[in-house]
Amino acid sequence: MAKRRLTERQIRQISAKKTQIASDTDTDTHNGTVLTHHGKELIVNTESNETINCQLRQNLGTIVCGDRVVFNYLDINSEPKTAVVVALTERDNLLEKTGFAGKAKAVAANIDQVIVVCSLVPRPNSYLIDRYLVAAENLPASPMIVINKIDLLDDTNEHIVNDINSIYDTIGYRVLETSATRNMGIDELKSMLADSTSILVGLSGVGKSSLVKDLLPDIDIRIGEISQASSEGKHTTTVSTLYSLPSGGNLIDSPGVRDFSPVNLNKAQIMEGFIELRPYRGKCKFANCSHTHEPGCAITEALEKGEVNRQRVNSFRKMLADAET
Ligand code: GDP
Ligand code: ZN
Repeated sequence: MAKRRLTERQIRQISAKKTQIASDTDTDTHNGTVLTHHGKELIVNTESNETINCQLRQNLGTIVCGDRVVFNYLDINSEPKTAVVVALTERDNLLEKTGFAGKAKAVAANIDQVIVVCSLVPRPNSYLIDRYLVAAENLPASPMIVINKIDLLDDTNEHIVNDINSIYDTIGYRVLETSATRNMGIDELKSMLADSTSILVGLSGVGKSSLVKDLLPDIDIRIGEISQASSEGKHTTTVSTLYSLPSGGNLIDSPGVRDFSPVNLNKAQIMEGFIELRPYRGKCKFANCSHTHEPGCAITEALEKGEVNRQRVNSFRKMLADAET
């Protein structure tokens, strides 16, 4: 049977209809970024940089700060404007924590950069640093290292700074020295954050909240503004929140983000997470090599030849052993 031909007029009508649908969609739906979501409180930053309070369609699943969403205004003339989130845009990544009863809990989405903060006092724990780096590489997000409290530098702890630089700078990670209390290295930190959405992670006591105060001097005022925009007004710093930094870029912060302990990773993810060991992947004599004692282990050979750092290989082996248990 011959295909039915459309007349010129019909074609014009269809194309006019399509244009109309497209323009209806354009005027009705908008894109935004979730600043915070806690209980019924869902606050979204619009593309025109307005902060609005949103309702949520039931069936969208978990929505966390950093999520990019599509919303419709309910009443554009109301003050403040109200809207309903109708869709969640695909995520680049999702930061999850091990929550209640070992269940993974979503904390934040679309993170570009993980700033691993350590300090001279308390001293850095290299295994923890490596765990954070491996977690960041697997998100995936770009990691960098900050050594804070550099004002406490003296002859007894100078080796800490030298070691961190020689291990991590060599494999391509940026290492920055800061003092949150003496305002050293803070401008460099601001410029490192300027084009990205970042999180600060690290041990308690290394100075993360002090750095956040340097980066967001009016953080309490900002939280107040966000709470005012919300109907509940119960916002506290315990809820993960996306802040736009006056110096450019965004910071996602909450106590839960700062001390996030990476969820358990499998062996392939651990291998992927040690960036300088990637070239040795698949090069061991045995496919199931544990990279500890086997003959023909490419990683042991690289270590013997001095191509890779012993402390990093120790972390790698420990992480693999921990993954087995
Ligand atoms: P957090 O637990 O990582 O958030 O660490 P805090 O920001 O609460 O800092 C812990 C302690 O270290 C506080 O007493 C801070 O005043 C102090 N501290 C933070 N940054 C620095 C710094 O750069 N130099 C020095 N000497 N002390 C700092
Ligand atoms: Zn091996």
